[in-house]
Amino acid sequence: MSIGLRIDVDTFRGTRDGLPRLLGILKERKIRGTWYVVLGPDNMGRHIRRMLRPSFAIKMLRSGAPNLYGWEILLRGTIWPGPIISARLADTLRMPDREGHEMGVHAWDHHRWQMAIDSLSNAELDAQIARATDALATIIGRMPTTAACPGWRCTERVLALPSSKLFRYRSDCRGAAAPFLPIIAGAPIHQPQVPVDLPTYDEGVGRGRGADERWNDELMQRIDDGQPHVLTIHAESEGGSKSQLFERFLDQAIAKGHTFEPLCEWLDRQPAAAPSTIRKGRVAGREGWLCVSDSLRR
Ligand SMILES: [Zn+2]
Repeated sequence: MSIGLRIDVDTFRGTRDGLPRLLGILKERKIRGTWYVVLGPDNMGRHIRRMLRPSFAIKMLRSGAPNLYGWEILLRGTIWPGPIISARLADTLRMPDREGHEMGVHAWDHHRWQMAIDSLSNAELDAQIARATDALATIIGRMPTTAACPGWRCTERVLALPSSKLFRYRSDCRGAAAPFLPIIAGAPIHQPQVPVDLPTYDEGVGRGRGADERWNDELMQRIDDGQPHVLTIHAESEGGSKSQLFERFLDQAIAKGHTFEPLCEWLDRQPAAAPSTIRKGRVAGREGWLCVSDSLRR
């Protein structure tokens, strides 16, 4: 059973260091995936304000976030303005496309979207997507065909924006790995969604000695059930301090006969998308709401 592989690149450092490293890891194993990249400023450092909240601090410490992201990243955007990723790292951002991977729009300003989606106007949200899409189109030389909201923060309002509709399909939700057509204002729109069903490393990893290896085991158990799956990895973790852990996972999965593919190809081999509602929900290990689908595996 083939696994849809999605790689999110959220930060400047993730783009500069994590992206090429992951690309090499995947190339060695002849795997291609779908990369959702951030084009605008890296203001992820603003997360540090959230660290003042206990629930967030616990999560950060549990997932070893200062090691995952590096203190430089946590501070970025708090004391100095974040660099514009697409201006500084265009050649790096182009690499997955040149090696035959699929590339999609993740965000202009990841942090702003994640924090302020409910308070930003339609015009501001639309401008964020349009700006990111333009920047990625300039880098790869054509219109990207897919997009994914930062932090799975998506609503019916976002999907109704003109700039959201420009993509062949989107990946904005969590839920069973079954493509679906989101119901907006009572009617399904003809833009399939590829939901992510597997937890991310920072959501799923436990604590204490051997936590990383237990995480790999759990992931392996989940994909061994013979069902379709969609996995999200991050350039900041699986392309950073967790790269060897991820390599061991890949080698184990490949040895068991699993294959990985970009979401566009995964989508094409699934049963036709059925209509489904979306709503704000939660997943274990992640702070705050994210978009969940009510679609079921068929
Ligand atoms: Zn992201």
